[in-house]
Amino acid sequence: MKSKKLAVIGGGASGLCAAIEAKYFDNSINATVFERMPKAGKKILVTGNGRCNFTNENLSPSHFYGDSIFLRRILTSAFADTENFFRSLGVLSFREDGRIYPRSQQASTIQQALVDAVEAADVKMRLEEPVTSLKKSGNIFFINGECFDCVIVAGGGRASPVHGSDGSAYPLLESIGHTKTNLYPALCGLTYKGKKLNMLKGVRAECKATLSADGKNLGEETGEIQFTEKAISGIPIMNLSHLVKKNKQLSLTLDLCADISYSELLEHLEGARGSTPEKELESVLSGVINTKLGFAVLNAAEIKAHTPIKVVTRSRIKKLCDILKGFEIEITGTRDFNNAQITCGGIKTDEICAETMMSKITEGLFICGEILDIHGDCGGYNLHLAWTTGRIAGCSAAQYLNK
Ligand SMILES: Cc1cc2nc3c(=O)[nH]c(=O)nc-3n(C[C@H](O)[C@H](O)[C@H](O)COP(=O)(O)OP(=O)(O)OC[C@H]3O[C@@H](n4cnc5c(N)ncnc54)[C@H](O)[C@@H]3O)c2cc1C
Repeated sequence: MKSKKLAVIGGGASGLCAAIEAKYFDNSINATVFERMPKAGKKILVTGNGRCNFTNENLSPSHFYGDSIFLRRILTSAFADTENFFRSLGVLSFREDGRIYPRSQQASTIQQALVDAVEAADVKMRLEEPVTSLKKSGNIFFINGECFDCVIVAGGGRASPVHGSDGSAYPLLESIGHTKTNLYPALCGLTYKGKKLNMLKGVRAECKATLSADGKNLGEETGEIQFTEKAISGIPIMNLSHLVKKNKQLSLTLDLCADISYSELLEHLEGARGSTPEKELESVLSGVINTKLGFAVLNAAEIKAHTPIKVVTRSRIKKLCDILKGFEIEITGTRDFNNAQITCGGIKTDEICAETMMSKITEGLFICGEILDIHGDCGGYNLHLAWTTGRIAGCSAAQYLNK
């Protein structure tokens, strides 16, 4: 009997897992991965700063965004045990604050393990072959004019196109009736107004960050933030970036002393007035926060850095405490797709069956990974979705072909 032909569009995290799982289910399937880049899994190599934070110990639904019922089915699926999946491919893990990395702490370990598994399963990898057309006629799919019995679309989103996912897979799905929601970059820095903060380039600080729009609190996160030339970044900021709303007055409030209460801070600064009256404010503040941040706080309070603390009134000290506990920054938006880790929005999940990842619109078409309208926090959650949805799609596609 002629073997059934499966095509996977996209050789990234989800596509490679889909191909592997399809072949695990039925090794006689003739599986081909179409990848537009010269290398498969290129993006995996840059994840987690080159270490690949591939999943997390805490997979609570609160770390994921999108249709909650759809997500619950994915997260509770038999394919959601990412750590054991990679262990079965020979990769041991390493844990850091709940985040899980390969034990080698090299993203190339994960990428190579997948490429090796794909090769061992005898999947045809067609590199530098972008798919530009997807059609179905009767029971047959046509990919760039070539016939297949079943297709998995795993083309990723629009984030970081230099690593492959340029958004070219969305029109393929739209051409056969799927709809996508608005797309916007996330897990990226927030851009700010004015040049006043440029002097903070390179500064890192532990703080609580609260994002608001038109005065309404959108969310808050605690951790280390970083100031860069064009934006404010760091895990807490990246986790807030998906909440940014267009056409709203956005503001970021930083509690630069989140671990100290207001009254303790006030007591400390007032105490300095008594114990070191000649000390200039600049050096008093350097005992509390990063020196450059201290300058920015004094600028915002309109107090000269060289003012001896003895001449600073209680109300001015209170003003300094207010700013230290609530440093306001006007936000203009997020960085663009070139500088984002993920795409928010995507193919509508109510058009897809969560148990199989099969399209409800076109039988035999499966969709997985970041191209879907679901995403997660920073911390291994997006790769976790990519591996899991990819594996579900692969196994279900093989079952479909065996019907
Ligand atoms: C810098 C960076 C760091 C990150 N770090 C982490 C991390 O540590 N942990 C984490 O969980 N997530 C991380 N992510 C996010 C994570 O990498 C993605 O969510 C994940 O790779 C999505 O997997 P995917 O398979 O859906 O898409 P992708 O990995 O983007 O793969 C899609 C593939 O499809 C190919 N393709 C697209 N269109 C076509 C077409 N028309 N024809 C043929 N091929 C096509 C692309 O070339 C690409 O190889 C990071 C992302 C970036 C950019």
